[in-house]
Amino acid sequence: MRGVVIHAPRDLRIDEVALPSPGPGEVRVEIAAGGICGSDLHYYRHGGFGVVRIKEPMVLGHEIAGTVAELGPGVASHTVGQRVAVNPSRPCGHCRFCREGLHNQCLDMRFLGSAMRMPHVQGGFCQSLVVSAAQAVPIADRLSWSEAAMAEPLAVCLHAARRAGPLLGKRVLVTGCGPIGVLAVMCARLAGASMVVATDIAPEPLALARRVGATEALDTAHSPAALAPYTAEKGSFDVLFEASGSEAAVRGALEALRPQGVIVQLGIGGDMTLPINTIVAKELQLRGTFRFDEEFALAVELMGQGLIDVTPLLSASIPFESAVEAFELASDRSRAMKVQLTF
Ligand code: ZN
Repeated sequence: MRGVVIHAPRDLRIDEVALPSPGPGEVRVEIAAGGICGSDLHYYRHGGFGVVRIKEPMVLGHEIAGTVAELGPGVASHTVGQRVAVNPSRPCGHCRFCREGLHNQCLDMRFLGSAMRMPHVQGGFCQSLVVSAAQAVPIADRLSWSEAAMAEPLAVCLHAARRAGPLLGKRVLVTGCGPIGVLAVMCARLAGASMVVATDIAPEPLALARRVGATEALDTAHSPAALAPYTAEKGSFDVLFEASGSEAAVRGALEALRPQGVIVQLGIGGDMTLPINTIVAKELQLRGTFRFDEEFALAVELMGQGLIDVTPLLSASIPFESAVEAFELASDRSRAMKVQLTF
């Protein structure tokens, strides 16, 4: 079978890879769709991000859905032909954090398509993938492959919403309207936020943020002072979902957060310098958020019930043989929000 393999920056190839066989407790999934994530783009453009670097060829991809094609010994939870979204997280289950229930902080996590460990964990942009049965989450009949492959980024945003605490009646600011920011807008709405203001520096993502429920979507490139009305009297917003990774965005947002406001940092952009005095004096709470745990099944459930509709984010589905074209399209924010590969 074939897969989409990153060898080095800008060196993405369609390679022949070995067809795996499921072991005890595992299933083989024939992949139907796989979404290109910001981290896949980082591997493609720069060979990695932060200290994570490609050290050997790796199949990319961790936003995937497909059909159960083969059951390993002892698997009674699934049937061949079942449609599933694949949870890319495979925590060890017995380290100190797994025992505490903090599976996303597992000391021995195997996350699909990640170069964080050596040897790298091969990803899901391939025709067939073996995962533990628990990673194959059955989806509702109403969901398309493209929707099912959005479970992973949606789970990231549901986990971020949980990190924020109760959102009912809250005033929420979302900085950065890529797929994660736009999904954060939708999660904040679903969780009962009374107002959701989104910012970005490009018109197309802002238009989408409006379409999925943002009260206001502000272009801070054209109007750097767009948030000024929200900075009066020590600021307006209760919660910030920061999905840009941009220092300028964070600095602008801090001024618009009310005292004791909560910052949930989703965006990663390397090191940044922040006005600690503002954080101290306004008693702001800076919280990280990393991947997800049981929110993956919740994402599948919410989409399956029609409570979250991710279809406005879906820009294009492109055959995996044209992966380079798809990665270039996914890099262009004026033309694409979420680009997926088909297999
Ligand atoms: Zn663990």
